[in-house]
Amino acid sequence: MKPTFRALQALDRCTMRARTTAFIGLGRMGSEMAHNLFLNKFSESPDSGFVVCDAIPESAVSFQRSFLSRFPEALIEVVRTPEEAVRASATVVTMLPSSPEVQTVYTESNGIIPALRSFAADKPQQTLLIDSTTLDVDVARRVAGAAEESKALMIDAPVSGGVAGAKAGTLSFLVGGTEAAFRKAEPILSHMGKRIIYCGSSGAGLSAKICNNLVLGVQQIVVAEAMLLGQALGLDPAVLAGVINSSTGACWASSVNNPVPSSLPDKSPPCERDYEGGFATALMIKDMRLATDIASARSSPLPLGQAARDLYARVLKVSPELARKDFSSVYRYLKDLSGDGHD
Ligand code: NAD
Repeated sequence: MKPTFRALQALDRCTMRARTTAFIGLGRMGSEMAHNLFLNKFSESPDSGFVVCDAIPESAVSFQRSFLSRFPEALIEVVRTPEEAVRASATVVTMLPSSPEVQTVYTESNGIIPALRSFAADKPQQTLLIDSTTLDVDVARRVAGAAEESKALMIDAPVSGGVAGAKAGTLSFLVGGTEAAFRKAEPILSHMGKRIIYCGSSGAGLSAKICNNLVLGVQQIVVAEAMLLGQALGLDPAVLAGVINSSTGACWASSVNNPVPSSLPDKSPPCERDYEGGFATALMIKDMRLATDIASARSSPLPLGQAARDLYARVLKVSPELARKDFSSVYRYLKDLSGDGHD
């Protein structure tokens, strides 16, 4: 008869905890990442344990069901709180919406850090905490500091690559933390991504992620502006995109995520599907806020970043239906402003 998760835990709680990984936050990104992590860990060592947790318990239950339907012998359990997750697992990955949820999961009652503090007397193995949420750098550093005071290792490991990259296991992880924590986390991250870049001490992964998305958010707007102006001047969008993409204006926003239908004949950017299936405008606004807020706290000038943040906010005020659409739909907003019907 196959051993149940609880039976194994009862047999040797300490050994089982060392072999168990928890995943908290099974949303659009987290469910795909957890799937790859658990699949790869399961094929490596079928007797390793998995624990899943989400504020919406049905998300965790449906994740467990779908995994067990394919691998009935898998040791996978649903828990209700982050505290239960860290009691059962020596490695915990979190993928949450933003700063408030990370604070709740790590620092509030039933959270990870209070549970780690209460472990002190039991002296369990060192816990590895991996947070892949995109959140405020200062909040992340404070949480990591508190985790380290509780003798855990913690890294910030935000991702780029979106839901498609999470599903394909090709995410890029940008990592901040001690080198010891990075080395311990690398094999786990490699189960979910292809590029794992060590950026420096705690908060460095998030800093790099926020700076990158600042560039991206600004570029997407200026590409939309140029594509609109070009058409107003009588240019064919495919000709204009071809010129930009082979000239000094080339960038991802123009060559991969061009916002004008038919401008990239060999590609299929979100604009070809009514801006469905890319990086949501709501998430871009969140990242622009993170950039402008931290820049203001550090007195680092961000005139274009601030203008971009204001523009994306205006887009959503005027057209709330674009919140879930790809952020290149800023083009649609500008086109409506021009009152013109190009493309
Ligand atoms: P999501 O809202 O789909 O998922 C978040 C999950 O966290 C949900 O299942 C929610 O129920 C759960 N959650 C919230 N509070 C919780 C709590 N207190 N305890 C346990 N679970 C809780 O978000 P997402 O799109 O998966 O994004 C997650 C993170 O990844 C965000 O920080 C986002 O900025 C970043 N990100 C997203 C993308 C993308 O394309 N979606 C790309 C790169 C980075």
